[in-house]
Amino acid sequence: MTANLLDYDLEGLALYCDQLGEKRYRAIQLFRWIHQKGIAHFDDMTDLAKSLRDKLAVSAHVKSLEVISQHISSDGTIKWLFNVGAGNAIETVFIPESDRGTLCVSSQAGCAVGCRFCSTGHQGFSRNLKMGEIVGQLWFAEHFLRNHLHRNDRVISNVVMMGMGEPLQNYDELVPALRVMLDDHGYGLSRRRVTVSTSGVVPMMDRLALDCPVALAVSLHAPSDDLRSNLVPLNRKYPIAELMESCSRYLVHAPRDFITFEYCMLDGVNDQVQHAKQLVSLVQKHASDGVWCKFNLIPFNPFSASGLLRSSAEQVQVFAGILTDAGIVTTVRKTRGDDIDAACGQLAGDVKDRTGVAGRMARQRTMMLKPVSSFNHVTKES
Ligand code: SAH
Ligand code: SF4
Repeated sequence: MTANLLDYDLEGLALYCDQLGEKRYRAIQLFRWIHQKGIAHFDDMTDLAKSLRDKLAVSAHVKSLEVISQHISSDGTIKWLFNVGAGNAIETVFIPESDRGTLCVSSQAGCAVGCRFCSTGHQGFSRNLKMGEIVGQLWFAEHFLRNHLHRNDRVISNVVMMGMGEPLQNYDELVPALRVMLDDHGYGLSRRRVTVSTSGVVPMMDRLALDCPVALAVSLHAPSDDLRSNLVPLNRKYPIAELMESCSRYLVHAPRDFITFEYCMLDGVNDQVQHAKQLVSLVQKHASDGVWCKFNLIPFNPFSASGLLRSSAEQVQVFAGILTDAGIVTTVRKTRGDDIDAACGQLAGDVKDRTGVAGRMARQRTMMLKPVSSFNHVTKES
């Protein structure tokens, strides 16, 4: 089997080239062709020696993921569903804004954490994505968008690991993928423009601080252990106090940064005045340990199996007001791509669930998706 070069960071590619008897600067050239120019065919890499191109042609390839569907929302959000084999699909979402382009990337097919409000969590865990499948989402989206928008410069300025899966439970594949994103010969994204979102895998947060201290978002969702354990089962293993201590250690390695606490607003569950006040005391208690933070309140994206409802806009405002009045920077996430379900595991859930009545309904819904036969044609949904 030939090697997929998307599975290598620059160091890995240098080692690979060394085995072919090639110098390091050749690996850099190759890496730049792949990631900066989006070229997959070795014959198009014109400044590589013919002898190297011949060697690569028999030993390697550059292959991204197979697109199942592509949807573009009226607000410009694009969602891709990729086939990762064995009936599993993952999703990637591009969110354009006036000053940035953000790509939301998946790290696993399914997720083992099983949060109550998360449709990916309800699917269960299928498998970890390979490094090349994580980077492949960025490779595909960046070069697709450049072609589509007729741009030569960078389209994606930010990456958030907020698609399907718990990135810190796929650490060994995640970190080299992050390195490619940050590498000046790769995508050249700055450390603060790449965000890892975690449900709180404390030992891995500590490792990430040492290995690759990118921006960190922590999915908090509750101010007390009782409630958090109910919503995020991993809290039983790593309770809030340990999580906070790990956040403070993280910031030692990411100076002048802050932690973003994500908080999914669930009607009547975690959105009451008392919860906001408890959060304020929690943050104040840990501020002296150096946990600088901001809050991002996420309106819940409902799905029937959860039995949960989205908080009203008024309740979200009241909640945000209490945090803001206490001096905590708080934003409410805009819902983007609502018309194409571009939030957290919804569409991929339809594809994975292929058994029984739910499966038949899912298949019907899946068939309604427009297949992408050519990447040059983006279908605009009304
Ligand atoms: N596993 C990681 C990253 C993926 S989830 C984590 O949990 O942080 C990315 C974010 O989406 C998390 O903050 C998660 O809590 C949130 N989320 C999951 N399901 C959601 C839903 N149905 N509505 C709104 N936010 C959701
Ligand atoms: Fe997994 Fe994150 Fe969903 Fe929880 S919210 S089940 S950790 S993907």
